Amino acid sequence: MSADPNCIFCKIVAGQIPAKKVHEDDRVVVFHDIAPWAPVHVLIIPKQHIASMTEVTDADAALLGHMNVLAPRLMAQLGVTGGFRQVINTGRDGGQEVFHLHMHVMGGPRPWAKG
Ligand code: 5GP
Ligand code: ZN
Repeated sequence: MSADPNCIFCKIVAGQIPAKKVHEDDRVVVFHDIAPWAPVHVLIIPKQHIASMTEVTDADAALLGHMNVLAPRLMAQLGVTGGFRQVINTGRDGGQEVFHLHMHVMGGPRPWAKG
């Protein structure tokens, strides 16, 4: 499976740097974000190095479907009952900082809620 030796998320996939993993299978790794924006904030990443959504092809459709199907299951496993958000940032203007595709999944009481 393709990896980029300079990519921090490829290093997490390889176990070269630690992460609080919540799920791993043949296609993805899921771990807690190091700087959470919500009470529960995990990142679903493909094991293969795909830099961003701009690199995705039809061959990745099943992988993206898998990531979407996992999100609600993992939120339920992590005790999130009131709903969650899924976010993929793409490119500089999309706020992407790590150029290895990742889906943020954020749940728990909303810190962004008014009042
Ligand atoms: P982006 O802005 O690229 O969509 O989000 C990157 C996310 O990765 C950020 O929320 C950031 O906190 C998280 N992150 C960056 N480096 C690490 C790391 O080494 N470990 C973990 N667990 N999360 C990281
Ligand atoms: Zn990578």
